[in-house]
Amino acid sequence: MSRNILLIQNDPAEAKAVQEALIHSSDGPFQVEWVRSCAEGLKSLTREGKQEKPDTDGIAAVLVDLFLPDSRGFETFDQLFRAAPKIPILVLSTSQDEDIAKLVVQYGAQDYLLKDRLNGYLLLKTLGSVIERAANAEALFEEKERAEVTLNSIADAVVSIDISNNITYLNIVAENMTGWQLDEAMGHSVEDVFKIVDATTHETIQNPMTLAIQQNRAMSLTPNCALVRRDGCEAGIEDSAAPIHDRRGQVTGAVMVFHDVSKTRAQALKMSYQAQHDILTDLPNRALFSDRLSQALVLAQRQKTKLAVLYLDVDHFKHINDSLGHAIGDCLLRSIVQRLLACVRSSDTVSRQGGDEFVILFSEMAHPEDAIVGANKILQALSMPYLIERHDLHITVSIGIAAYPDDGAEAETLMKHADLAMYFAKESGRNNYKFFKSEMNDRAVERQSIETGLRQAVEQKEFVLYYQPKVNLETGAIIGAEALIRWHHPQRGLVSPAQFIPVAEECGIIVPIGRWGLREACRQARAWQYAGLPPVRMAFNISAVELRHKDFIDNVHAILMETGLDTRYLELELTETFLMENSESTAIVLQALKDIGVQLSLDDFGTGYSSLSYLQRFPIDTLKIDQSFVRDITTDSNDASIISAVISMGKNLHMGVIAEGVETKEQLAFLKEKKCPEGQGYYFSRPVAADKFAELLFPAPMKAA
Ligand code: C2E
Ligand code: MG
Ligand code: MG
Repeated sequence: MSRNILLIQNDPAEAKAVQEALIHSSDGPFQVEWVRSCAEGLKSLTREGKQEKPDTDGIAAVLVDLFLPDSRGFETFDQLFRAAPKIPILVLSTSQDEDIAKLVVQYGAQDYLLKDRLNGYLLLKTLGSVIERAANAEALFEEKERAEVTLNSIADAVVSIDISNNITYLNIVAENMTGWQLDEAMGHSVEDVFKIVDATTHETIQNPMTLAIQQNRAMSLTPNCALVRRDGCEAGIEDSAAPIHDRRGQVTGAVMVFHDVSKTRAQALKMSYQAQHDILTDLPNRALFSDRLSQALVLAQRQKTKLAVLYLDVDHFKHINDSLGHAIGDCLLRSIVQRLLACVRSSDTVSRQGGDEFVILFSEMAHPEDAIVGANKILQALSMPYLIERHDLHITVSIGIAAYPDDGAEAETLMKHADLAMYFAKESGRNNYKFFKSEMNDRAVERQSIETGLRQAVEQKEFVLYYQPKVNLETGAIIGAEALIRWHHPQRGLVSPAQFIPVAEECGIIVPIGRWGLREACRQARAWQYAGLPPVRMAFNISAVELRHKDFIDNVHAILMETGLDTRYLELELTETFLMENSESTAIVLQALKDIGVQLSLDDFGTGYSSLSYLQRFPIDTLKIDQSFVRDITTDSNDASIISAVISMGKNLHMGVIAEGVETKEQLAFLKEKKCPEGQGYYFSRPVAADKFAELLFPAPMKAA
């Protein structure tokens, strides 16, 4: 520490006496710079760097007689003090001027000494304590400054209160967060400046600093609390408070460190929302739906009310996605959701399970039948056309309904049963709803066993093809054969295609089955030709699933090459549903088949929704009038006129027409009269095994052989 003293004293004798005393200090000598006027004193003080570093070579203190030749009394002090406010000033005064000396002490001088009572001891002691006090004050100031800077540069808000709960400190972050400036907040009650509420209920929460004082221990903030700013806005905050103690360990106040967690909380909320909702449609997802259903069940149980779960699947949605692209598929799903939401009450829940499947919870129902009203409303609303990016789209949906308590008491069971019922709605022609029935469970088990059996049937060679003749109605000659598959099940015996083809289509096993069948049919047709039988067209049924398979065309081509059957002898029977999907890929596949020379016929014509535009758009050779029309031609005039119309339409479009399911002479007579060119049915022959068919083809020599 510097021991340089600036002595400003006009009187040489007095100056000398002071110097003497200071030089002989027992703590080591002071260096004294003696000047005689205020101006000189100011010069010394303002000399470069002097007042900046009082601790090293700077001036440690000023010893001044206020009455100098160039300045007098208070003015002397004032000039010096202004020039070097950090350097302690000790005033030398006469008893007469003691009042002035007292005044300057009030204004910032450290102390005064009366010259007439001055002795070396007193001077040294006073000067020593003046210098020390100034140094301590400086250290304290620096300490405070450091704390202040630290507190203002951290990202957390800091607030402190005294024992009476009044604010004593806010750092800048706390100022910003509370909306109070420190100087305004000082002395205000903590309740005014730092009001905390529960973020959900908005009820006031006791301030943790007050608690920290009361309980004399660190306190954490209650979870989920928010600070109410001065402007009334709320911000989520988090952290803790601790009591402040004095040297004796007595609590004198509390300090609290906290930070804004609004963003983190909002982020957490967003994440939990996303975990429970479907991104595309914003509907509750499977997980949230299960929760809601479970809650609704508890309520329904307690209040003895009913509820229903509707499982909804868009019919043939995949084809829209495949043919028009996912973007349009997504738009369509969103439009569907809008309509679904418009159909239900606010107490109901619509959820997306994934893909094109939705589950709806009707939570307030008087009777299970109420669900039917809802289901009908949905079927109707969703079947209206959708205009999406200039595409005019039509869809239907299939709905399965399971009601509590009749169809299940638990969420999982109800969902499973509604799903099962939906599957049955699909099976019975789509675009409808089905209530769950307990037999469905049995049928589902049955279906499952068929599926398991199908998986090995191809390898185990359990399939055979039967053939049914197609006849020229004018000449009676067999002009073709339709191959119809039969399954010799090791336990069940003969299983009809109606039982297993839909299952095979659904699980995709139809592809290998169809591949086997097509090869077998072509091989057989070629074998008959080799055997010298009159060549006939071999028709094979193809389901939509097979046609959409990417290798389909290549496969047909390969089978024709492999079996050596001339392409013109192969005819593929397609159903209307495939055309209805009306996609570009449908046209491409059909054209590719035409290009290799395969004949195409439209099976079960009249049962679907074919319109003339479909027929014109696709290269179809023959219409197969469905057997349901043929069955009643002689009794039902409607059916009769439909058949007449189809026959003439076929002619006009230059298409072949064949009537399926001809069973009686009367039916045949009617068809002949209407000039239907071809027919097929039990009247001519049931589907028969290959050797039997060969006999039909060439009865005489075969029979003779
Ligand atoms: P489909 O293609 O319309 O075949 C005609 C169905 O009517 C055959 O039933 C046939 O036995 C039956 N039938 C023929 N004439 C008469 C008649 O005069 N009266 C009555 N009541 N029925 C007659 P089947 O063999 O049970 O086949 C049913 C359906 O299964 C077929 O309908 C076809 O859609 C499908 N199917 C059969 N074999 C195959 C196959 O190998 N692949 C594919 N994908 N589907 C097949
Ligand atoms: Mg057919
Ligand atoms: Mg048919």
